[in-house]
Amino acid sequence: MSFPFRIIDLTHTLTPTTPSWNGGCGFHHEIKLDYKDCATDVKFRVQQIKMHAGIGTHIDAPSHCIPNGKSVADLELQTLIAPCSVIDVSKDACESLTIEPGRIHDFEKIQGLLPGGSFVIFYTGWDKFWTHPERYRNNYRFPSVGKKTAELLLERRVVGLGIDTLSPDRPEDGFPVQRLWLGAGCYIVENVANACALPPTGFYTCALPLKTQEGTEAPVRLVGLIPK
Ligand SMILES: [Zn+2]
Repeated sequence: MSFPFRIIDLTHTLTPTTPSWNGGCGFHHEIKLDYKDCATDVKFRVQQIKMHAGIGTHIDAPSHCIPNGKSVADLELQTLIAPCSVIDVSKDACESLTIEPGRIHDFEKIQGLLPGGSFVIFYTGWDKFWTHPERYRNNYRFPSVGKKTAELLLERRVVGLGIDTLSPDRPEDGFPVQRLWLGAGCYIVENVANACALPPTGFYTCALPLKTQEGTEAPVRLVGLIPK
């Protein structure tokens, strides 16, 4: 039986130069035992990973800013594997762009209402700066999502919000989207890669995080599944 989907990788590879929220090194591999030092016949390399929980393409669970909110391990697979829509704002993307509700209305005029239970990605094109961490971080100036836009997504009963920047909020705005969205028990995926390869709708995403107990954030392998 052949797999009925085309698979699109929406995940950045983690490296020591991965852009991080604070600008420092957010990911590090340490070799604890190397092939040449291994006493057994079969030689092993054993690594330890040190990283920020919120590094690379990653998920924010409600507990990221809501005390007693759901942790990463509490998120239901039914919401993490979901129908997906991509709202492309890349033509107008700049560091001061705030994505307003009109973008959703424009999308829905063509594609129909965003379905309840779905994951919505805002594609801004900012991921083109991914390999230039300073430019990507840009002193916390990057395309972001307006509070009213987040409210409209909640009205539509969307369960996950993705964006190809460090955050749907610029710190100067006071993190309204994270507060609202995580407060509603929904999840956010930041630093989405390769969303330009996705159609506007009619496909699924899987956002599968490391299942960490009491985790507030965790790296995900985000994958798009497009019906063949
Ligand atoms: Zn985060």
